[in-house]
Amino acid sequence: MEKEEFDCYLKAGKIATKVKANARKHAKVGMTLFDLAEGIEEEIIEEGGRPAFPVNLSANNVAAHYTPKINDELEIRENDVLKIDIGVHVEGFIADCACTVDFSGKNQKLVEASEKALENALTLVKPGLEIGKIGEEIEKTIKSFGFNPVYNLSGHGLAKYETHAFPTIPNHANKDSKVLEDEMAFAIEPFATDGQGHVMEGNEVEIFSMQAPQNCRGQTARKILALVEKEYRTLPFAERWIQKELNLSEFERKIALKELMQRGILHQYPILHEQKGKLVSQAETSIIINNGEVKILVE
Ligand code: MN
Ligand code: MN
Repeated sequence: MEKEEFDCYLKAGKIATKVKANARKHAKVGMTLFDLAEGIEEEIIEEGGRPAFPVNLSANNVAAHYTPKINDELEIRENDVLKIDIGVHVEGFIADCACTVDFSGKNQKLVEASEKALENALTLVKPGLEIGKIGEEIEKTIKSFGFNPVYNLSGHGLAKYETHAFPTIPNHANKDSKVLEDEMAFAIEPFATDGQGHVMEGNEVEIFSMQAPQNCRGQTARKILALVEKEYRTLPFAERWIQKELNLSEFERKIALKELMQRGILHQYPILHEQKGKLVSQAETSIIINNGEVKILVE
């Protein structure tokens, strides 16, 4: 891997490490998720990075893809199990990480299950390791705590301006015999749950990404497209980011996003949730293998 590229990954990882630690400290019961997310995203920029995707703040049975809406008043509640998932990029090179905060202290075992699964998986990582072995270790560890891994969520490769690249890193023993190779960058992200371990798509969508740029008719849609191509490229973005930059009426924004979706220009990421009343924890870090050496990007 080119030194410049490696250095970008290291810088993204350093920023993510610092920002994640601060987010953990700042998150308090009564605080709005909006303020938490915007604070994290601002800090990433102050530190010299860019958010690789909107901060995901998914509580309780929501496993992923919740980012605050425009004027979202949702607050952190005392029994919340909150996943804070942060992505930082430097010149398109991404460090993706997450932690879980258990505000009541009643769900420590669940939090520990995903953390330990990540820790155990990391001890195996080296060039030549069968990718299925990572999933096997994660599943075994989470089950030893009495929980289920979320079978249909997985870690993923990282590439320039691409959050979900080859290969898929499973959270269960799927017997994948592909192997980790030199120059690979990827995220491992075990999810543990007291539910069945299968997340479903909800109706809410706040996160989008460019999938297939092409011409569109609406003036507002064209404005959004130009902003996305310039600022986010193929990385995910939030509706509240668009609003901050373009200051549109809700009506024109919704119509424009709908047009972009219908034409297949934008991809949407609906929230992903376990069954009601169940809880999900997550731990995540990013790894890069360079000249045969394993470097964990986010501590
Ligand atoms: Mn993540
Ligand atoms: Mn990830």
